[in-house]
Amino acid sequence: MKLVSIVVPMYNEAPVIDNYFRTMREVLGDASAKKGVRFEIIAVNDGSGDGTLDKLRQWQKEINCLSVLSLSRNFGQEPAVFAGLERARGDAAIVMDCDLQDPPEMILPMIEKWEKGYDVVNCRRVSRKSDTRFKRDTAGLYYAILNKLSHKVKYPHNVNNFRLVSRRVLDLILAMPEKQKFYRGLVAYCGFKSYDLEIERKQRAEGESKYNFKAMVRLAVDGIASTSTKPLSWALGFGIFFLGLGALSSIALLVLYLLGIGLNYTLFGILSGLSFFTGILLVFLGIVGIYLGKAFEEIKGRPFAIEEAFYPAKERQEGESR
Ligand code: UDP
Ligand code: MG
Repeated sequence: MKLVSIVVPMYNEAPVIDNYFRTMREVLGDASAKKGVRFEIIAVNDGSGDGTLDKLRQWQKEINCLSVLSLSRNFGQEPAVFAGLERARGDAAIVMDCDLQDPPEMILPMIEKWEKGYDVVNCRRVSRKSDTRFKRDTAGLYYAILNKLSHKVKYPHNVNNFRLVSRRVLDLILAMPEKQKFYRGLVAYCGFKSYDLEIERKQRAEGESKYNFKAMVRLAVDGIASTSTKPLSWALGFGIFFLGLGALSSIALLVLYLLGIGLNYTLFGILSGLSFFTGILLVFLGIVGIYLGKAFEEIKGRPFAIEEAFYPAKERQEGESR
C-alpha cells in the first residue's frame, strides 16, 4: 500500500487546529477508502507560543497517523517545511498550510494525477478573490520577474507550496546541499512531468496571516536570490553603457573643440570623464558579480542535470551499471 506524507507547518495556529484536523480526518479517510493509500501527517510546530503544541499532542490521541515535530524556536515557514519533509517516509509528499486556504479536498485529485505518472502535481490558484488587489498584482509581477531571471527553469504562476511531489523528487530536493532552501524554487529546478490542478484559494478559516508586507518582501527577495545570480551581473550592463557614453561624448567634445565651436568645455569634460570612470568601476563590479555568482552556484552544489530515464543501446551489456 502506498504511503502519502502530509507536511504541515504551524506557527501560532491554535485557533484553527481543531477545524483543520476535523476536516483532514474526513478527507483522508475518504481518500484512503477510495484510493487504497495510507497517509501520515507530519505537523511541524514552528516555535509557537500559543498552545499549538498542546493541541497537537491532544490530536495525536485521536489521529493515529499524526506525528508532531516541534522546533526549538520559530524558524520560519520554509525551514519548518523542510524539517517536516526530512521526517517524511511517504512514496509522495504533500506540503500544505493549516489554515484551510489550501483546500484539503484537492488531496484526492492530486494523488490521482500522481498515480498517472506525474512526479509533481501543483495546485494553481485561478482565482485570487480572497487576496487583495495589491497582492494579486504584485504576485503576477513577481512570477514574471522570477521567470525572466531564472534562465531555463520554469516557475509556474500562482502556485504556492501546496503540491504533491513524488519520492524521487523529494529525495533530490532533500539531497541538495544548500541550506537556505526555497521549496518552490527547488521543485521547479528538479523538473519532471508536472500537472497543474486548478483551485480557488479560500479565505483563512481562523486566526490571522503570519505574513505582513515586510515578511512578504523578504520571502520574495529570498526566492529570487536563491534562484538567480543575474542581478549580480547587472552592473556590467550599466558599466558598458556609461563607459560608451563617456567615450563617445569625449570624442564628440574633441571634435567640437577642433571645429572651434564655443562651449563650456570644463563642465562637459567633467561630465564625460565622470561617466567614463563610473563605467570602468561598474564594469569591474559586474565582473566581480559574475564570479561571485559562479561561486554561489558551486556552493549550492546542485546537480548540473537530472536524469529522468536512460534507455540503453541494444549493444550495451546487460547488468552493466553505467
Ligand atoms: N508558518 C510557519 N512559520 C512562520 C510563519 C508561518 O510555520 O514563521 C506557517 C503557518 O502556520 C501556515 C503557513 O506557514 O500554516 C502559511 O502561513 P500564513 O497562512 O500565515 O501565510 P499566508 O497564507 O497569509 O500567505
Ligand atoms: Mg494562509
